[in-house]
Amino acid sequence: MKTIARSPLFAVAGLCVAVWLGDFTDVAAQEIAPLEVHEIAPGVYAHEAPITAMNAASGGDISNNGFIVGDEAVAVIDTGGAPIIGERLKKAIEKITDKPIRYVINTAEHPDYIFGNAAFVGPDVTFVGHRNLPRSMAVRGPHYVETLRRDMGEALIQGVKLVPPTLLVNIGKERKLDLGHRVIDLRAWSMMSTDCNLTIFDEQTRTLFAGDLVYLRHIPVIDGSILGWLEALPQLAAIPAQRAVPGHGPAGAGWPQALAAEKAYLTKLAADLRGLLKQGADINEAAQMAARSEAAKWELFGIYNPRNVTAAYAELEWK
Ligand SMILES: [Zn+2]
Repeated sequence: MKTIARSPLFAVAGLCVAVWLGDFTDVAAQEIAPLEVHEIAPGVYAHEAPITAMNAASGGDISNNGFIVGDEAVAVIDTGGAPIIGERLKKAIEKITDKPIRYVINTAEHPDYIFGNAAFVGPDVTFVGHRNLPRSMAVRGPHYVETLRRDMGEALIQGVKLVPPTLLVNIGKERKLDLGHRVIDLRAWSMMSTDCNLTIFDEQTRTLFAGDLVYLRHIPVIDGSILGWLEALPQLAAIPAQRAVPGHGPAGAGWPQALAAEKAYLTKLAADLRGLLKQGADINEAAQMAARSEAAKWELFGIYNPRNVTAAYAELEWK
């Protein structure tokens, strides 16, 4: 480069080349590694995320996601907790199939499911979600972005786009999507872990993507209604799946056995809270005592059990 930079003109040209090479080198250095996925049933792929919290260290990779490949198209299910996770999931899909991604389905409004959406935006991609999801995203999304900018750092958050679904699923009205000789059934639930839980059932392999309606190893997180959740568990169990991908925990767990642990936790929490309320315990006492016997069974218990108590206490207080 130096040998040609003899005149001012060449010097400027050389500088431009150097700047351009600099950018190019940065992009090359950040080459995107495909997310690790496993084919848990023919044509059904899942990424099993570590059980951890949203912070700089976890980089937004804290909840499971996956995709289903039909003869004509691909449906993506959840996109991870940062744009880079979405990019990495897209890379993983491109490694496996050249069929176009037609649908991106979000199973809830939490940032760990939607913050990777930006990676998939395009003219041929339809975003799909619960009827309540656009409203939830609009109301809570900006707050999530600000909180996580602080907790995860600007670099991970800067590309986040809150992309609301345009294809909406109503409660009580199952919607089928055809991916080409492969039909998946989408079901919107009434208030359970959140107010916009959506499940996806692949008819061909009887695989259920359950999102935040199923937790394994990771303590369940109540951001909706403990009573609604408990009430709807039998309907969830009745889905004729062989295996499930929970929102958190081992992907491909046997069904409906995968529900047993969270049912035990939610049942115990509700029973303890009813007892504590009867004794006149305040919310802080309840946070210390409710569901303590479950502590050893769950990861992140210390973080989420007190929050669950807060959510459930208010709900049960009025029942
Ligand atoms: Zn989750």
